[in-house]
Amino acid sequence: MMDKKVIDEFSQIVGPNNILIEDLDLFTYSYDASFLPLIPATKPDLVMKPHSTQEVARIMELANIYRIPVVARGLGSGRTGGSVPVNGGLVLCLDEMNKILEFDGENLTITVEPGVKTQDIYLYCAQRGLFYPPDPSSLKHSTIGGNIAENAGGPRAVKYGVTGNYVMGLEVVLADGSVLQTGGKMIKNVTGYDLTRLFVGSEGTLGVITQAILKLIPMPKRWRTVQVLFDSLEGACAAVSRAIKSGTIPVAAELMDQISLQAVAKFGNFSLDPNVKAGIIFEFDGDSETSLEEQTGGVQKICAEYGSIQFRIAMTQEEETELWSLRRGLSSAVAALAPNRIAEDISVPRNALPEIVKRLRAIAVKYDLQMAIYGHAGDGNLHPSLLVDLSLPGEKEKVDLAVGEIFRAALAVGGTLSGEHGIGITKKEYITDALGETGVATIRSIKKALDPSGILNPGKIF
Ligand SMILES: Cc1cc2nc3c(=O)[nH]c(=O)nc-3n(C[C@H](O)[C@H](O)[C@H](O)COP(=O)(O)OP(=O)(O)OC[C@H]3O[C@@H](n4cnc5c(N)ncnc54)[C@H](O)[C@@H]3O)c2cc1C
Repeated sequence: MMDKKVIDEFSQIVGPNNILIEDLDLFTYSYDASFLPLIPATKPDLVMKPHSTQEVARIMELANIYRIPVVARGLGSGRTGGSVPVNGGLVLCLDEMNKILEFDGENLTITVEPGVKTQDIYLYCAQRGLFYPPDPSSLKHSTIGGNIAENAGGPRAVKYGVTGNYVMGLEVVLADGSVLQTGGKMIKNVTGYDLTRLFVGSEGTLGVITQAILKLIPMPKRWRTVQVLFDSLEGACAAVSRAIKSGTIPVAAELMDQISLQAVAKFGNFSLDPNVKAGIIFEFDGDSETSLEEQTGGVQKICAEYGSIQFRIAMTQEEETELWSLRRGLSSAVAALAPNRIAEDISVPRNALPEIVKRLRAIAVKYDLQMAIYGHAGDGNLHPSLLVDLSLPGEKEKVDLAVGEIFRAALAVGGTLSGEHGIGITKKEYITDALGETGVATIRSIKKALDPSGILNPGKIF
């Protein structure tokens, strides 16, 4: 518990209107969008809403003196408990540091504060003819700071990569309150270690991101969305891998198994042919109609070889929006199928997709649990989701065993624990399985060097 005198000292930095101290307010900052029953909500002692780097720096300086844990938070849409203050202390909520600081159309960059919502960056750039591609499905509900801290991905990662591929430079407040600048607007830079990359995906454990310079690219001229339905999940997975191997890189290739499709059908109030066992939403882009024709034509042929039942091209903007809104609503639609949903985030080499879905199915059968499988098949990142009722006796134990097997299956086919949601609290017990003793010792020593007192987001990753 923080002392009243210490709370007063912190309050003076941001002013009384920018702190939250009431019990109910604190409770609001005690959880995130991860699976609540597996993570007990933990209240912070104080929530602070800074509005400048200087304020963040003073907060960190004081926190370092008093050894108070500090948990940076964007909009709490994280899926692994990253912004849950497990040791109490301070939650540093950055959603009001939300200014777009500079748009540089010549160098194709945008400089932003950490609390800007991802969709706002996309729209701001699109209105000026440039493209910020990373598109986590939570783009309306997550901040760029949270995206960088989790190295968030999204459907477009197949062709355009993830958040980290667009971060050119950062301003970061370190554990002792000093302010670090990394990278910049230059495209090439090998001056010292690549510190920008170090903070990407660091889950708030190494520093608080207070500014980011992001790379932009020209906006593609045309887009085309296609929905393909298949008679088998393995066929759908193999088709994605083959299509990419053939040289057609879709912008997105989003996979849904039969359970996921049924969830979406229920949600969207339409019926689904029982022969349909999987679906993929492809998106292609290009500069001309001919290029789109070539890409869709080639992929259509490949899909037919792998058991496609239907190949539907969205002909209007409305149809395109409808297909994508179904995909974006998928996570919620699946969650609505059962009292509890545990969604994992494994990432495997793309050609291991047919093998991993076979193994996932076997795990579901072994533990007699319902599992929906969906995700970003184009880059091998799947979200196997267990649909369970944890109030049933023995269910939690089965879930724990099944989750362990899901991770082991991913590692066995050359994959890893997380493609985009990070480790947070929920996966930390498996980190050594994934990185090995030396890998964990190495990241621990980086943590120790940057945060010797362990005040930055303690209890996460390891
Ligand atoms: C419906 C839904 C769909 C989602 N879809 C996707 C998806 O498609 N792809 C994907 O990658 N993720 C997805 N997510 C997960 C989540 O949206 C992302 O992890 C997102 O990047 C979190 O952003 P946030 O602002 O909500 O961060 P928070 O949840 O508040 O924080 C996440 C982590 O980042 C740290 N952090 C936040 N801000 C800073 C900062 N300024 N400096 C340092 N550390 C910071 C926190 O300490 C924490 O560890 C989804 C979540 C939901 C609920």
